[in-house]
Amino acid sequence: MNKLSYAPEKSTSAWSIYLQQIDRVSSYLGNLSRWIDTLRHPKRTLIVDIPLQMDNGTIKHFEGYRVQHNLSRGPGKGGIRYHPNVDLNEVMALSAWMTIKCAAVNLPYGGAKGGIRVDPFKLSENELERLTRRYTSEIGIIIGPQKDIPAPDVGTNSKVMAWMMDTYSMNQGNTVTGVVTGKPIHLGGSLGREKATGRGVFITGCEVARREKIKIQGAKIAIQGFGNVGSEVARLFDKVGAIVITIQDHTSTLYNEKGINIKELTKWQNKNKKIAGFPGAISIDKESFWKSHMDILIPAALEGQITQKRAEIVNCKLILEAANGPTYTEADDVLAKRGITVVPDVICNAGGVTVSYFEWVQDMASFFWSEIEINKRSDKIMIDAMVNVWKKAKENKCSLRTAAYIVACERILMARKDRGIYPG
Ligand code: GLU
Repeated sequence: MNKLSYAPEKSTSAWSIYLQQIDRVSSYLGNLSRWIDTLRHPKRTLIVDIPLQMDNGTIKHFEGYRVQHNLSRGPGKGGIRYHPNVDLNEVMALSAWMTIKCAAVNLPYGGAKGGIRVDPFKLSENELERLTRRYTSEIGIIIGPQKDIPAPDVGTNSKVMAWMMDTYSMNQGNTVTGVVTGKPIHLGGSLGREKATGRGVFITGCEVARREKIKIQGAKIAIQGFGNVGSEVARLFDKVGAIVITIQDHTSTLYNEKGINIKELTKWQNKNKKIAGFPGAISIDKESFWKSHMDILIPAALEGQITQKRAEIVNCKLILEAANGPTYTEADDVLAKRGITVVPDVICNAGGVTVSYFEWVQDMASFFWSEIEINKRSDKIMIDAMVNVWKKAKENKCSLRTAAYIVACERILMARKDRGIYPG
């Protein structure tokens, strides 16, 4: 395998975690493994400079990225991340996980991802808008409704998508709603999109819990992250009688043995923009989060959270990966040895991109569905994909992650093989 010269990597980097996951699936793919190197090379990588005039008149430069990892099965699809730690290595990994995710749930997309190395909370709304519009113009040469369709991710939201849609449309000279998903409803957005990732985590989580005979009612739950995804997952599990005992974000780790009141915490967070200081729980130290006695652990923040050390001490039966790439490969092995089931990100959090797909289809048809219709269709896609992966894991006596990669890689590499290499 050739090493990529432009992405120097540590063995713990996101891209190297992804490569290790690909290494593991190769031996299950028979003749198709001849094509596996395709997945070790992003198809197209764009780095852009974004000059931004700040409100005080100074000019700052930010680095932005858009990586199209694989387009064998259709246009690129994947979110845009605004975070101070974004770099090429991370965006490459996130784009690759989108390739696997879209194929694992059988959406007709390839994988892509973008981002800007910026702390969006340090910008004013006007600065954020100017940054977004310039970034969109810069990546405008490779995105488009039939080419590559961005969406929200960590640090971006429907407002950012509206600016992206408008900027792309202004440059085209006509309104192109299908260029991004996760838009506001009145601009061609889809009902159910905002809650879709959290809902998918809940649906797949309940399906696996039932198969593993873990009772949801009364189950103790720990959630890392209380953003768009973490808060919705907390709300749904709370609603069916699970007890959310601990929630961690970058400001605090909350703990309440009797269960954190999710409605109250949501109100607190909306008002204070952080969970720290919430009076309905005590604050514990960061590492104690992993040691808490729980049944289900839900990482819903960033990648690289479940290290080998944490995997050795974590006290749960089931892990639902709401975040992308939260678990290191060595940690995966420890968890497997300890009999802890991991529902991998590429299935578990695919509810978001599934409803993004519905949004894009609705935009193309200019015909919009009801929320009931959307939830019904996305729940079915999520459960069917989960059951398929579950069966693959039993057949091959492997983890759910490896099984999801087998399902996805077979689909991608079959497309790759039948398309052939141009020029031949
Ligand atoms: N950012 C989300 C993800 O990681 C959604 C991507 C999309 O909807 O295209 O799956």
